[in-house]
Amino acid sequence: MTIIINVRERIEEWKIRIAAGFIREGKLVAFPTETVYGLGANALDENAVKRIFEAKGRPADNPLIIHIASFEQLEVLAKEIPEEAEMLAKRFWPGPLTLVLPKSEVVPRVITGGLDTVAVRMPAHEIALKLIELSERPIAAPSANISGKPSPTSAHHVAEDFYGKIECIIDGGETRIGVESTVIDLTEWPPVLLRPGGLPLEEIEKVIGEIRIHPAVYGKSVDTAKAPGMKYRHYAPSAEVIVVEGPRDKVRRKIEELIAKFKEEGKKVGVIGSGSYDADEVFYLGDTVEEIARNLFKALRHMDRTGVDVILAEGVEEKGLGLAVMNRLRKASGYRIIKV
Ligand code: AMP
Ligand code: MG
Repeated sequence: MTIIINVRERIEEWKIRIAAGFIREGKLVAFPTETVYGLGANALDENAVKRIFEAKGRPADNPLIIHIASFEQLEVLAKEIPEEAEMLAKRFWPGPLTLVLPKSEVVPRVITGGLDTVAVRMPAHEIALKLIELSERPIAAPSANISGKPSPTSAHHVAEDFYGKIECIIDGGETRIGVESTVIDLTEWPPVLLRPGGLPLEEIEKVIGEIRIHPAVYGKSVDTAKAPGMKYRHYAPSAEVIVVEGPRDKVRRKIEELIAKFKEEGKKVGVIGSGSYDADEVFYLGDTVEEIARNLFKALRHMDRTGVDVILAEGVEEKGLGLAVMNRLRKASGYRIIKV
């Protein structure tokens, strides 16, 4: 049975306390963060963590991020905390930044997929922080979606994938950022960007200087030793996704051309982006890159429900949140990219 706790209007502590009780008992609780919804379990309980992998159908070598509510919790989970980690945590936590550090003995290996490193972040969301505080444990939580599907940005999305399969869903409304956290590996120098996300790379570089971008961010090579999650197809709706990248007007014309071509083939076509098109389904993402990021996964899930055969997606410039948006779009397309 799944209990849905509604705290959309007002965050009442007694309600979060119920969810915290589930965490302590080794059960699964989906909760909102500022990025996407997480599927949480007590990070120090190996069996509870195993259930996350089972529920999601997640490969065992794809590690989880541990969510904390205080700096003291980081000191328990990490063996060493380099100065740069401290600087980044001070500047950006709570926030959409995940730090990869050497793991301590207390972190079960199921969480790290067998690695000697651990990924940690402090989410900037009152409900998430309260849940961690009240359960008095760090919470391991990947995105609350069936493995391979688009990440959930509302409790409704979580219920689509997990209703009846987990103990509790906390409904805190739609998430503010809409793409997952930025993941930085600080066990190497220079630090490595493993996943672009809700905190722009440019902001992080202002604090610690140049960061190397892992080639897998662009889908180039897939060195799976460091960032195992990157080898799997992600964020993918059932329909075929094609990303069209380039200057705006050219992208527009190309998409119009493709709509005509697919229609002729008798296919039902959807478009996601900032323009208006004469397609079967059009999901307007927004004008700013922040709005586009916020609506991206919702759009992919929406398209699936409409049963389109092909989704054409407008590319955006890879600046700020644009790097995360393009990374998710390209992955969702299985790297079916048309450059104009
Ligand atoms: P998710 O929480 O579903 O967004 O996925 C978490 C992602 O964090 C994984 O796919 C990995 O890419 C990354 N991650 C978690 N732990 C580590 C780690 N120890 N080393 C490198 N990347 C990690
Ligand atoms: Mg995920």
